[in-house]
Amino acid sequence: MERMQSRPTLPASTDVLVVGCGPAGSATATWLARAGREVTVLDAAEFPRDKTCGDGLTPRAMLEVDRLGLGAWARDRITIQGLDLRGFGHRRRIPWPDGDHGGTGSAVRRTVFDDRMREAAVSAGAVVIDGARVTGVERDTRGGDDDDTTVRAVQVGDTRIACRTLVVADGVRSPVGKMLGRTWHRDTVYAVAARSYVESRRHDHPWIGSDLELRDEAGGIQPGYGWVFPLGDGEVNLGVGALATAARPAKVAVKELLRHYARTVHDEWELTGEPRAVTSALLPMGGAVSGVAGRNWAAVGDAAACVNPLNGEGIDYALEGGRLLAELICAEPGSVGSGSTSYGSTSYGSTGTGLTRAWPELLRATYGESFAIARDAALLLTYPRFLPFAGPIGMRSQTLMTAAVRCMSNTVADSDRDIVARGWRAAGSLASRLDRRPLFAH
Ligand SMILES: Cc1cc2nc3c(=O)[nH]c(=O)nc-3n(C[C@H](O)[C@H](O)[C@H](O)COP(=O)(O)OP(=O)(O)OC[C@H]3O[C@@H](n4cnc5c(N)ncnc54)[C@H](O)[C@@H]3O)c2cc1C
Repeated sequence: MERMQSRPTLPASTDVLVVGCGPAGSATATWLARAGREVTVLDAAEFPRDKTCGDGLTPRAMLEVDRLGLGAWARDRITIQGLDLRGFGHRRRIPWPDGDHGGTGSAVRRTVFDDRMREAAVSAGAVVIDGARVTGVERDTRGGDDDDTTVRAVQVGDTRIACRTLVVADGVRSPVGKMLGRTWHRDTVYAVAARSYVESRRHDHPWIGSDLELRDEAGGIQPGYGWVFPLGDGEVNLGVGALATAARPAKVAVKELLRHYARTVHDEWELTGEPRAVTSALLPMGGAVSGVAGRNWAAVGDAAACVNPLNGEGIDYALEGGRLLAELICAEPGSVGSGSTSYGSTSYGSTGTGLTRAWPELLRATYGESFAIARDAALLLTYPRFLPFAGPIGMRSQTLMTAAVRCMSNTVADSDRDIVARGWRAAGSLASRLDRRPLFAH
């Protein structure tokens, strides 16, 4: 698709600089621009660009898409009612929980979804520049204390761009985050996953296919699941994901596993083609990163490992995190509408540590308990004997699986007072107190 506008030139300075125009970057940029901030977004890729993903939008994601004003657009493409779970000799259709997050989801291929989100940022007033890879960061560490890192500017090839605040939304590998000390800890659970697109006569089926009993060609059970997300445009997104830790790495070739899985669901989904565009990627999960913020910078989305360990979903947390970060940046004294042009000399927060402590504290307050318990539950799944034991028990009961889907999709709202919500919150609180590695640690 050819863009009508010519590419904006790289500015010498900007108020907020966002690196990465995936869901996290575009949401942060949209909310900041709507609040009247001067925002520049840089992305290394030329849009529309692909991103290895299942393309699924949970009710939690749809709530954010609604807030951005794009809910009807996504639901018009396809509205998903819930999950068709299969495994261990059982089949259960579980509607999405009809709670605070709303009872419907969607699925939009990322070439389309991310481009639409990018457009929302542009419409809000952000300047978005494609094909601009950030290659360096200029920073100040006062007194040698890493907590006090202030970013002065970023480098795009030979061009220096000064900024007052830097948002690091550069995805799973987070090259810019790494330059600033962000570290991913693989001793806690992470996933390796592959996706493909396949033509299907059931491309507009309003239920996600989710196979909890994922077997390889030799019949061995894998610690993960297979999915089929109908896209409503002639194809389904078909993929597999396996959980792992550094101690128990996934011993499986996920692309091969995907092709095998496609054969097993071929008739059920009336597939009319072979899996195409097969790609795989890693997923950091459950806040298993340290160094997610400095005085005037913060990491969001995959860069902050904001992915649900129990279902591999991260678009919801990328969009939500973007909104929360934008609110935090706008709430900082002296930063909103200050009209200051002395980029790099900002003084955030009443404590004087700026985003360094405020951002990880907000992430922990928002996701701490739910990620901690999800991390522990996902870790159990990496033990080879756990799933064959627990799977058949869970799948026997509609009530149990309904509760499981609600917890796994993290759609238990703070206001929910029923027994499942209370139990999940209590388990989350215990898990976060016992956690050996705190989420979003320093
Ligand atoms: C196989 C698979 C299936 C998944 N399925 C789902 C699903 O169904 N639903 C769901 O919610 N989540 C899913 N996820 C997770 C989801 O894809 C991510 O959580 C989500 O993309 C995170 O968004 P983000 O904006 O943080 O990062 P990204 O979407 O990765 O965006 C990062 C952007 O940063 C840019 N960038 C990187 N480096 C630089 C640089 N140096 N300079 C400039 N730009 C840079 C990149 O070009 C990219 O556009 C899946 C992930 C995988 C791997």
